[in-house]
Amino acid sequence: MVRFTVLASGSKGNCTVLSGGRTRILVDAGLSCRELFKRMKLAGEDPATLNAIVLTHEHQDHVNGLAVTARRLGIPVYCTEATHRAWTRWLTPRRQMSYAQWLEMVRKQAAERQAEPEPVENDPPDDLEEAAVENSVASVAPASSDPASDPSSNLPPALKDDPTWLPAIEYFSAGQPFSIGDICLNPFTIPHDAADPVGFVFSSEGVRLGFATDLGYIPPNVREQLRDLDLLLLESNHDLEMLRDGPYPWSVKQRVLSRVGHLSNDATAEFLADDYDGQAAYIILGHLSENNNLPELARVAAERALLGRASLLANRLLLAAQHEPLSAISF
Ligand SMILES: [Zn+2]
Ligand SMILES: [Zn+2]
Repeated sequence: MVRFTVLASGSKGNCTVLSGGRTRILVDAGLSCRELFKRMKLAGEDPATLNAIVLTHEHQDHVNGLAVTARRLGIPVYCTEATHRAWTRWLTPRRQMSYAQWLEMVRKQAAERQAEPEPVENDPPDDLEEAAVENSVASVAPASSDPASDPSSNLPPALKDDPTWLPAIEYFSAGQPFSIGDICLNPFTIPHDAADPVGFVFSSEGVRLGFATDLGYIPPNVREQLRDLDLLLLESNHDLEMLRDGPYPWSVKQRVLSRVGHLSNDATAEFLADDYDGQAAYIILGHLSENNNLPELARVAAERALLGRASLLANRLLLAAQHEPLSAISF
């Protein structure tokens, strides 16, 4: 069975769980670890069964709980090399270090770690490192009774101060499909003001799911990817009038409206009316702005664009929310 659960979507945090076959991945970790685990339980998902975290880009609303969650579950993080580098820089802004120097440091730390004797079984758990990370990324660690063991409690002292330490990191490149267990991922470049942002087409058991939020417009390569899907999660970020008349400073408005900003309701509707092939059973509108949009405006714009295409089998329109998970969608 393939199951898709949006835990949160919006500028205050993005997180989605995708299950296919025996594999379960988290797409972005934009909620604190505690909130993420809470929402997974609310949605009937068990955090301890996650196999990996996959990142679209390094903006805070996509990585807020990344380090703590990956450490607590002891699972690898998949992202592009540029995204990893940007995230690392964000967490260590005062370290004047080239990437080569940073790599050297990581290598040394790994060597030190290898040289350390095996930790004693009943070492007291040490949450200091968690607390440091929590402070630096403004998220909160779960209590020690959480389902997964805490591999970070056995970290050697050198790593306890390193907020960028992850249990494992795997690089992928846009345009080069790869697999995590039973899920195939096809990352594609999207236009957004991050280091190397991507959207995905996920496939598993013959089900294809498209995932594209945080993009300033929909270029031909993205249109090309978003075909033959069973589910499409697409950004519908702002209403143009609300953004223009809203509280944001002009520079921020310009950024959101730019070719590397976010999709408006109109831009999303235009895609759905003119380019979308009408095949998906579900269309989920995501990353709605809480300041510059209303769910009803996004819904009406998309409904108009899909006029006549909705049926029992196709184009069911759903809205992902910021503060509560969307019911799981199963295939
Ligand atoms: Zn975002
Ligand atoms: Zn972003």
